[in-house]
Amino acid sequence: MSVLILGGTAEARKLAEALGPQAVLSLAGVTDGAAQQGYRQRRGGFGGVDGLAAFLAAKSIGAVVDATHPFAAQMSQNAAAATTRLGLPLLRLERAAWPNDPLWQSATTLDAAAKTLPAGARVFLSVGSRSMQAFLPRADLWCLTRSIEPPARLPAKGEAILQRPPFTLEAEIALMQAHRITHLVSKNAGGQATEAKLAAAAKLGVQVIMVKRPQLPAALTVATVAEAVKWVENQGE
Ligand code: NAP
Repeated sequence: MSVLILGGTAEARKLAEALGPQAVLSLAGVTDGAAQQGYRQRRGGFGGVDGLAAFLAAKSIGAVVDATHPFAAQMSQNAAAATTRLGLPLLRLERAAWPNDPLWQSATTLDAAAKTLPAGARVFLSVGSRSMQAFLPRADLWCLTRSIEPPARLPAKGEAILQRPPFTLEAEIALMQAHRITHLVSKNAGGQATEAKLAAAAKLGVQVIMVKRPQLPAALTVATVAEAVKWVENQGE
């Protein structure tokens, strides 16, 4: 049985590697994909719910694992709608969120996070290349951005770093000290690869503004690749 894995996360790639030839890993094509090992891979959007449903039918996909990033809400909604339409089983593979820290300020959206920042703050914007828009009107801020791909537009003042996780605690402390960071804006992505920035902020007294995960359609959800492999095995029975 062929399984479509909606990717864009390390977990999606690991699941595809674990499943091998039965897996089709789908990437939006935002970043350069690493070489694939033993599984099929496709890149680019499907064309909404209709396009995804047509792909699932044409490729005789038997099950779908939505292993997109927790903030890729549109793709998750499309996956839920297309699998419901075709009566296909859907699993969400989603790493656990970072537990809330009472010292963090919480924001429901990136726009809300941008409004929370005090005038003249020196901000570490750790939100991804495609999430800068909300901060562009805040010309008073100095922003250190870090992303894998170069952002299309950058805040008026600041510095941009291109880097892939993981990041160490020592490096995060040094980075925030070097740029005299006062505020860190982060999405609650969860996972170990990027969590050192939170410990570094706590150590340095940098105010964390944590953007909450968007609401996604209800779906059976697991947090680990091993559980997802087991679920796929059970679909074949
Ligand atoms: P999104 O807003 O949920 O999706 C926008 C559109 O991109 C979808 O409607 C779909 O186009 C296409 N798309 C998204 N994921 C796809 C996939 N795995 N395979 C094929 N098409 C996909 O997604 P996003 O937030 O822009 O994220 C894009 C990709 O980057 C996702 O794969 C996600 O896992 C990854 N990512 C996102 C974040 C983040 O913070 N949002 C962080 C790290 C990685 P069609 O409607 O044409 O099918």
